[in-house]
Amino acid sequence: MHKYAMNSAADFMPVDRLRNIQNQKFLKRFRYTYDNVKWYRDLLAKNGVDPNSIRSIDDIVKLPFIVKTDLRDTYPTGMLATSMENIVRFHASSGTTGKPIVVPYTREDLDVWSECVARCLTMFGIDETDVLQVGYGYGLFTGGLGLHDGGERRGCAVVPASGGNTARHLMFIRDLGVSAIACTPSYFLHVIDHAQKIGYDWKETKLRVGIFGAEPWTDGMRQFIEQETGIVAHDIYGLTEVSGPGVGGDCSCHAGIHIMEDHFYPEIIDPETLKPVPDGEEGELVFTTLDKTGMPLLRYRTRDITRIIPDQCACGRTIRRIGRISHRSDDMMIVRGVNVFPGQIESVLTGVDTGLVNYQVHLDTNDSGLATIEVKFEATPEMYATFTSEPEKRDLLAKVVSERLRQTVGIGFKATVVDQGGIPRSEGKMQRIVDHRKIDL
Ligand code: ADP
Ligand code: ZN
Repeated sequence: MHKYAMNSAADFMPVDRLRNIQNQKFLKRFRYTYDNVKWYRDLLAKNGVDPNSIRSIDDIVKLPFIVKTDLRDTYPTGMLATSMENIVRFHASSGTTGKPIVVPYTREDLDVWSECVARCLTMFGIDETDVLQVGYGYGLFTGGLGLHDGGERRGCAVVPASGGNTARHLMFIRDLGVSAIACTPSYFLHVIDHAQKIGYDWKETKLRVGIFGAEPWTDGMRQFIEQETGIVAHDIYGLTEVSGPGVGGDCSCHAGIHIMEDHFYPEIIDPETLKPVPDGEEGELVFTTLDKTGMPLLRYRTRDITRIIPDQCACGRTIRRIGRISHRSDDMMIVRGVNVFPGQIESVLTGVDTGLVNYQVHLDTNDSGLATIEVKFEATPEMYATFTSEPEKRDLLAKVVSERLRQTVGIGFKATVVDQGGIPRSEGKMQRIVDHRKIDL
């Protein structure tokens, strides 16, 4: 038996059995949604889908997709599949890209969710002897309460610190013997910064695991975090619409994110043709919730871009993996007709200094009505060491970065060096892109 299998046997079940469970759950959830959600019946009718033609999970390809705007259009409870007396909680998506989406949860939904988070914690090597500090925001955002419930379910001692108050975070990590911390990766970078300023010694703490998610982060960030603090950093993935964090996580092999696919059935589609792509190929991640009773979603388009990793993981888990989420399709900036991804900018900056560079992208329109793109970044001491130690040579650094950006992306960039700490730090999700462009709707 796997050392940490305990409540996580489902991660290791034989593939045939897993497919069988998915098939049965899918048929049940399809019928449930069809019978209980008028909006869904109308959607199928509009798309000419006969519900009797859905006889196995292979027929899932006949179903239309549900998209974010459908959830906004039915705000707040147009997709509710049960009566309000069965609803025990609401959450809302953080609204990174517009009006929030409200999600109702039944008792069973919360149960499945906390099981998934607990299974992720097991996967991260966390058990009842651990003290888990939750640094995600508590409230409508699913991060705080999601990790909290999952941590309690795993038997950890949970410290509900929430986001912010960095000095107190560091104090509790030391004084309460915190062994695991969960927060956004960008907030943890801020915690590391603060620790450095006050001469905090990570070796004097028991912290050994970091659980980071809710926003994209890179292997470079992982290395930096692990080197600075001596902890092991794990990735946790999820989205409010299908429950919250814990839809998947990366095991100790760190080779992709295992999806709790006995609860959330994944597909990857080509976002242009909307056809499923073969395993291994990149596309948009689509989920079907197999157990949700409050607001079940069938073929929900996440907008997250990734791929299904075809082979089985060395850890022995049979639940499939997706590649880490590097970006979402709505992160893509179109500037003067060219597609620009934050990842491209990040790779240029880390090419100048292999450490981590805080940056923010500003999009604007100039007086001639032309779109402009500016990258503001903090000059690290290493950057100055490479180029010069004289601050007046900042211009040179900015020129080098803007030239490399132009070569990588193919359009002109403005690059501006700001002081250390000049890029606003976030207690939750980092806002990487600030769009000042006036859009005529
Ligand atoms: P919003 O869409 O308003 O940001 P959520 O708070 O539900 O709402 O965020 C879910 C989204 O956050 C996911 O669809 C994904 O884009 C991103 N996300 C969550 N976890 C990760 C992760 N581990 N890596 C990369 N992106 C993530
Ligand atoms: Zn694995």
